[in-house]
Amino acid sequence: PEVARQIAAGEVVSRPLDVVRELLDNALDAGASRVDVEVVRGGLERVTVRDNGAGIPEGEVPLAPLRHATSKLESVERVTTLGFRGEALWAMAQAGRLTVTTRPAAQLGAVRLAASGDEVSVSRVSAAAGTTVSVEGLFAHLPARLRTQGSAAAEVREVTALLSRYVLHRPGLHWRLTVDGEVRLQHAPSGARGAVASVYGPLSANRVLPMEVPGGVLSGVLSRPELMRSRRDRMHFSVNGRPVLAPPELEQAVVDGYGTLLPSSQAPLCVLDVRVPPEDVNPNVHPAKAVVALADVAVLAARVRDEVRAALSGLPL
Ligand code: ADP
Ligand code: MG
Repeated sequence: PEVARQIAAGEVVSRPLDVVRELLDNALDAGASRVDVEVVRGGLERVTVRDNGAGIPEGEVPLAPLRHATSKLESVERVTTLGFRGEALWAMAQAGRLTVTTRPAAQLGAVRLAASGDEVSVSRVSAAAGTTVSVEGLFAHLPARLRTQGSAAAEVREVTALLSRYVLHRPGLHWRLTVDGEVRLQHAPSGARGAVASVYGPLSANRVLPMEVPGGVLSGVLSRPELMRSRRDRMHFSVNGRPVLAPPELEQAVVDGYGTLLPSSQAPLCVLDVRVPPEDVNPNVHPAKAVVALADVAVLAARVRDEVRAALSGLPL
């Protein structure tokens, strides 16, 4: 049964990147304004995410790593928080050694929970308000999972790209990524252009323009047509504030909005939030929740194209 559990956990958390994503989502769900990520040896040795969010009340801490324990689920049809399955911490405790140190600001002391498999211990410690979660020795007891891992360098690239997306979509927060003791990415609260500067440098930031069509579905920044790339790896979307891998229809809609301003086979830099009614989003499609299914993508795509076109035509180019 322990092996079965570990395999099931390996489905929820199949690589260090999954750990980082789940912990980032938990930090955001907790309303953090400062999030610190640390990755050691591609995350297999250790992933730590520290936040200054709401913390977990002392009495609820032992529940956190139980399977399907979530404080968030109201209705699967109307998901507003990022996490909702209550499986992430559980899976991390099965796949590695989980440590959660947490304190709500109004609580006197902090509580530390250490969980590995079904062994759980809880102690009182002193710590700043917020939550720090570490996962060490990921897959150390799951040789099959360990074998399928790519290189540490590749994982670090993915983690950096993931954190970049969070910075771009949540520029109002403090963010920091440390890899093997070295700061890789750092951002202090700013607007969207400041986030572009943190991720792609000041030159790119100078070439993006804010866009917001009154009453529209889009808001964010778009590059002036002269700043184009041949790949679409700098097109970033969030849906209702949640960073997602956009359906290709939305990427194409933005490209179409540039029309002839865009040389063929080139793509803009953009960071766009798409606002849709929560019931039109199904985040359950992909286990990693990175891909969303949107109702009426064709209708939405047409609006996106028109809003991009309108924003660009109003611009002094
Ligand atoms: P989910 O996010 O789906 O609810 P998780 O396994 O990720 O499930 O977390 C379990 C529970 O632990 C959450 O519902 C939340 O109550 C608590 N929790 C986890 N991480 C944090 C955090 N960083 N800050 C505050 N509470 C947290
Ligand atoms: Mg979660």
